[in-house]
Amino acid sequence: MTCELVRQMLDGVIDREFSLELRNAVIEHTETCADCAAELDALRHTVNLLRMAPTPEHPPEWWIEGTFEKILRQQDLQAPVEHGRAPQLTFLDDK
Ligand SMILES: [Zn+2]
Repeated sequence: MTCELVRQMLDGVIDREFSLELRNAVIEHTETCADCAAELDALRHTVNLLRMAPTPEHPPEWWIEGTFEKILRQQDLQAPVEHGRAPQLTFLDDK
């Protein structure tokens, strides 16, 4: 398998569009080819970022049940928000 072919197939490998056999062939190539391995890593990284988006900018403990509603109410009342942070609510637009 050539590098050129592998590069063209990386998308399909990550999206699991290909058969296991074909994916393994590509993965096998990346194990012996640093360039294609780097390509695969970069693509995986990008895909992960896309899947995670929109990314909440708060730690998990911030999302304790009820906290979010509380902050929404605080916003309504224009009261100061806990932790001195302005809530980042723009990601709600996507829902
Ligand atoms: Zn290669």
